[in-house]
Amino acid sequence: MLILLTNDDGIHSAGLQALADRLQSLGRVVVVAPDRERSAIGHALTLHAPLRAEEILTDRWAVSGTPTDAVNLGIHGILKTKPDLVISGINKGGNMGDDLTYSGTVAAAMEATLMGVPAIAVSLSSRNFKYADFADASRVAEQLALTVREHGLPADTFINVNVPAQRPLGIRLTRQGKRIYEDAVIENIDPRGRTYYWIGAGELDFQDLDGTDCHAVQHGYVSVTPLHLDLTNYAAMDRLRQWRMEELSIDPDHEPPPA
Ligand code: MN
Repeated sequence: MLILLTNDDGIHSAGLQALADRLQSLGRVVVVAPDRERSAIGHALTLHAPLRAEEILTDRWAVSGTPTDAVNLGIHGILKTKPDLVISGINKGGNMGDDLTYSGTVAAAMEATLMGVPAIAVSLSSRNFKYADFADASRVAEQLALTVREHGLPADTFINVNVPAQRPLGIRLTRQGKRIYEDAVIENIDPRGRTYYWIGAGELDFQDLDGTDCHAVQHGYVSVTPLHLDLTNYAAMDRLRQWRMEELSIDPDHEPPPA
């Protein structure tokens, strides 16, 4: 099995190291990851600057770009062939509910999916991120990698995996949950007397909805959510059809005179 490993916490993250070590028994593991922390960078792609990739150890590449860059470069530039699987993680912190579109971890799995490569994003919902803290999550990732190899994934689909901090009670198939945002912006004065702001510093909270990723993790289970890149809200189609947008006049020659 040829596995491409990446993350958004950077190549020196303990979560990436623990996962790489665990997956060695499955085949060849090639790490292509950002050379520094790139969390919350979403699906960003570097189009207007050169990228560098340095092989700091055998099959371990540090890339000067985003997680999406790393997957792109890893497949097209370094491996020059499609791997059997891309795994992104293990992220320091959960990636659940509405937070998914911010996540570089999840975006790396999206990128692999766009390339037709089966992908898994793995995150540890904890506050402790030393090497040993990733042991259970690494074991879960290994089991799910074997499961994906056995069954394959549906077209255009990847799985988003979140592992609780404590030893998991089991695995739950889930849907994406709902975050509660505190909308807190911290305003403060820096040592030079200028105002600065800090966003996203509020407490993490979720609506406790049965069947969701957040609910499963909160109750001690590993959450596995199948995701796809189609953001269309199919349930909203019927209502928007009633707007009759096709009949709106957008022709400047038929603009009514100003009142
Ligand atoms: Mn991260």
